[in-house]
Amino acid sequence: MEHVDILIIGQGPAGLSAAIYTARAGMSTRILGCAPKVAGDYDIDNYFGFMESSPGKELIERGRQQATKFGADIRCDRVLGVRQTESGAFVGKTENQEIEAQALILATGVSRIRPGIANLGDYEGKGVSYCVSCDGFFMRGKPVVVVGEGNFAANQALELTQYTPRVTICTQGKDVSMSEEFLYRLRENGIPVLEGKVSTLAGANGLDRVILESGEELDAQGLFVAMGQASSSDFAHTLGLARNGQFIETDREQRTNVPGVFAAGDCVGRFLQISVAVGEGALAGRAAIGHVKDRRLAS
Ligand code: FAD
Repeated sequence: MEHVDILIIGQGPAGLSAAIYTARAGMSTRILGCAPKVAGDYDIDNYFGFMESSPGKELIERGRQQATKFGADIRCDRVLGVRQTESGAFVGKTENQEIEAQALILATGVSRIRPGIANLGDYEGKGVSYCVSCDGFFMRGKPVVVVGEGNFAANQALELTQYTPRVTICTQGKDVSMSEEFLYRLRENGIPVLEGKVSTLAGANGLDRVILESGEELDAQGLFVAMGQASSSDFAHTLGLARNGQFIETDREQRTNVPGVFAAGDCVGRFLQISVAVGEGALAGRAAIGHVKDRRLAS
């Protein structure tokens, strides 16, 4: 396992801004995340100091180069899950590696992917879950469905096998985008991957089955949502971070309720703009530097 001072998840304006501060302060800094599609896709008219409309891609590239110049190590690697260790450090698990850090900055933007299940909300807390490490235990021996098409869903399904052998993945009509390695491990564990779409949930006292668009029904007492890549809400569930809906709650210094975890940018849900993401990233970077220094003094 690799060790760094500060792990930043997200390579958008918030994550890159945080890294400029942390790396420049001499903290070993790893950013995980690929170039953001959203901020890269449009022209920006309202960013301070840029008179001409400039492409988002260019701003991100400049931020990347600046963070790299100060020593930040940027890897295009998706984070599948995070956990806190007994010593109070944090471990990020990606598709390729595990990295331990003394402080964690979440800068993952907002997830715009929804599973499109009509009555999902009616079963939240009654079988529908967003966190295997929180709720997998309650599904011991029971049939469960994971909805999702990528490596995140595959990883969640494999984690569930600690609790139950009865796991099925539904991609919600999307093409399977799991790596060969994950597909191999799913086959080894007898986890079917269906390309059907769960349209409705059913059950009188909590979830007991899911109904596919085709009319087919599957027994399921648990349904775990894992569409696209893991989002800040997924990490928040696992780490026990206070949230307001899908957004992470922080104080004015971008500290969450868990010491050592900071959040910045769209995932905090204030004013969803690049200027705000950059400012919050700077604050999160400063707070994370303070946290690492305090831990060094304490050890
Ligand atoms: P993002 O830019 O969304 O970056 C999130 C990062 O997290 C990405 O690198 C992503 O790959 C990474 N990530 C997510 N999950 C994972 C994971 N599991 N593992 C690893 N990495 C992960 N703002 C303006 O100021 N001006 C505008 O003109 C403007 N126009 C907009 C137009 C559109 C169509 C949209 C959708 C937004 C617009 N915005 C605009 C808003 C702006 O894009 C956001 O406020 C800004 O990008 C937020 O930055 P962020 O760093 O918080 O998140």
